[in-house]
Amino acid sequence: MPTPLPIPGFAPVYEDYARCVHCGLCLNACPTYRLWNLEADSPRGRIHQMFHVFQNEAATPERLHTPLSDSFVEHIDKCLDCRACETACPSGVEYWKLVEHARAHIARHYPRSWFGRAARDYFFRDFLSAPHHIEDAARLLRLYQRSGLQTIARSIGILKLLGLAERERLLPRIDEEFFFTSLGQTFPAVGPRRARVAFFIGCIANVTFSELNQATVRVLTANGCEVVVPREQVCCGALSAHAGYRDAARDLARENLAALPLDDFDAIITNAAGCGCTLKEYDHLFSTNEPEHAQARAFAAKTRDVTEFLAALGLSAKLNPLRHRVTYQDSCHLLHGQQIREAPRALLRAIPNLEFVELPYTEICCGSAGIYNVTQTETALELLAEKMRHIQSTGAQTVVTANPGCLLQLRAGVALHHTHQNVLHVVELLDRALASS
Ligand code: SF4
Ligand code: SF4
Repeated sequence: MPTPLPIPGFAPVYEDYARCVHCGLCLNACPTYRLWNLEADSPRGRIHQMFHVFQNEAATPERLHTPLSDSFVEHIDKCLDCRACETACPSGVEYWKLVEHARAHIARHYPRSWFGRAARDYFFRDFLSAPHHIEDAARLLRLYQRSGLQTIARSIGILKLLGLAERERLLPRIDEEFFFTSLGQTFPAVGPRRARVAFFIGCIANVTFSELNQATVRVLTANGCEVVVPREQVCCGALSAHAGYRDAARDLARENLAALPLDDFDAIITNAAGCGCTLKEYDHLFSTNEPEHAQARAFAAKTRDVTEFLAALGLSAKLNPLRHRVTYQDSCHLLHGQQIREAPRALLRAIPNLEFVELPYTEICCGSAGIYNVTQTETALELLAEKMRHIQSTGAQTVVTANPGCLLQLRAGVALHHTHQNVLHVVELLDRALASS
């Protein structure tokens, strides 16, 4: 077998692993450790295992084809990549760099089943990079959801028989109209222009969260922003990078670097914390000697989560009172990935009459974590059940969050646990306050 090329982009060195001093202060922050109490499923335990693989890789590069153990792959697969351990760590361990490198290593060297590999290759390489694939799949799913097939499949128990019942319940509802039709459009600011921004609209969100994207445009324009939706933008590459498909993530990053001319905009805005995190870390996909590295750094410096941007700009549009009790679930990639805690809360507090209650354990992942709820459904549902118990304890009628993946997971939680809350993005609640009288 030929020796594969090294994993492109950032590669951890000894010091990145050695920063972990094994103090254990991250253990209670880790959702999988909290569930199972197993060292091997804790941040410290995973770092230890990854370090051994790194040592093996560094000492005997010719042994790159040595099979990785099933147990190593299982513990790394079970990690949510939620980064709560980074917030908790006093030693500054950048866990995401280690786990994404380990996953890139696994993607190259671990022999998954033929079907597992083929499905992953298709999804992370081909599906996410082609909007027409996403639209075609969404049309099929919409047909399933609207034609009565879904009701029949659920009632005759075929999904249970195929072992798909739980996964099927986590499927997003497909929109009537896709936001892809807005590519290339410019939405003028209402009143004097305060900023000109590029709206990064994501990939799957365009067929499942069109209303959120429309609300984002309305809130930004109402607050004096001219919003441009650059035509040639593609998926940010977050899902591919998290799964170890770094080549695919780099290709997508290159397309986005070319699609968004930085000098034309004051900021690149995203309403998806997961995408924003990856866009802000684009430079790590490239080595420092690659020309894209500097370009990616400039791109990252202009990227803002919509809550971060609006809180810093200041709301100029009048907000009407909303009489709701609201709680907020921190999105991991906003809180732990981007260290943004205050901005969404400040925006919620700006809505008159809104009663804001903090959610216990808001910093713990809801179980969404990219495609974790598909690949590790049982664990994702356990985490969701605990999250719904905490949400119920607040008495809130509305749960707000800042990432489409979390919205999907929490909406599934409301349906599964019959808890009846509205689940909205922060900008959707702002949009309602703009519209209400
Ligand atoms: S808190 Fe940081 S240094 Fe301590 S065990 Fe966890 S990762 Fe290692
Ligand atoms: S990223 Fe999340 S699940 Fe993974 S080790 Fe850190 S805290 Fe645990």
